[in-house]
Amino acid sequence: MTYEYEPVATPSSGLRLHLNENTGGCSPMVLASLHAMTGPQISLYPDYEAAHGAVAARLGVPDEQLLLTNGLDEGILAVSLAAMRGASPHDPFESVVPVPAFDMYAACADTAGARVVLVPPEPDFSFPLERMIDTIWERTRLVWLTNPNNPTGQIIPRDAISRIADTASGAIVFVDEAYVDFGGESLIGSALLDRHPNIIVGRTFSKAYGLAGLRVGALVGSPAMLAPLRRILPPYRINACAAIALPIACLDTAYYHWYLDQVHESKALLYDCLDRLGAQYWKSAANFVFARFPGSGPRIVRDLAARQVYVRDRSSLPGCADCMRMTAGVVDETRTLAAALEEVACGAAS
Ligand SMILES: *Cc1c(COP(=O)(O)O)cnc(C)c1O
Repeated sequence: MTYEYEPVATPSSGLRLHLNENTGGCSPMVLASLHAMTGPQISLYPDYEAAHGAVAARLGVPDEQLLLTNGLDEGILAVSLAAMRGASPHDPFESVVPVPAFDMYAACADTAGARVVLVPPEPDFSFPLERMIDTIWERTRLVWLTNPNNPTGQIIPRDAISRIADTASGAIVFVDEAYVDFGGESLIGSALLDRHPNIIVGRTFSKAYGLAGLRVGALVGSPAMLAPLRRILPPYRINACAAIALPIACLDTAYYHWYLDQVHESKALLYDCLDRLGAQYWKSAANFVFARFPGSGPRIVRDLAARQVYVRDRSSLPGCADCMRMTAGVVDETRTLAAALEEVACGAAS
């Protein structure tokens, strides 16, 4: 079996609530900094000192514990390549993915030569700790954890992460914190991260900061863990626009907090709507809500799309029959989503 990231349609008009993007655009200060760029800033290979320093300060990590990447996706690929070095095709290393999960983990680990082992979810999407522990053995070289999870928005308890890192002591434990800005607690700066040098934390500027189009991610870990990744990654992987924008994005905390507030209010609005419709949903620590409409999930996704409201059909993932994932971004747009949902879901009942 091979794993691939299936490209998702990106319609140019309508409400794009299917990719967890920041629906508020980026900081106006970031936009101004890009408008002010000069010819030489474009024509020369960029310098990363200011961007690296700004991100390290914003995340509260020493410079040597941070690697910037071309989107966290590039970090995921690099981690996969590093973890699978030395594997033999006859006796491959294993990569463990608790599902449902971001498709890139299995795709990249598979490409790097891993045997991918999927651990199915609990019915309520709580973290399957004991089954994860049972799955990890000496051939396990890479374990993927997403905290908060995409697509469910659920949090992995700290002691579960710690037990996994202990059990998989010969593996890289990658903790993807793409959504931690919105909820949950980052491992960065925690004693747990100091105790477990085999953990690498992933962060991104695509979601809370609204820089998905600029492609910036960050890997945080011990210098010894980052050294092999540094060798794998190309030297000029962050483009000049991203390098200029990052210090500004880190400075403009007003924009960042405005957006977090919008997301918070949007989630409350969606919960209300889903309660009224009698749908099942899971309280989310991320910038999206995962919901189930028994018997009509995919039909509702299609009916929303016909109204140019795009949400993500996740019904084909393990344990996710009739489930969809909806971005909770700017409140005005969420109101449009809620109104459309009420229309199409009630249409089903009549
Ligand atoms: C969006 C997302 C990423 C990718 O982020 P980029 O920085 O845009 O590459 C990584 N992990 C998860 C879980 C995501 O949802």
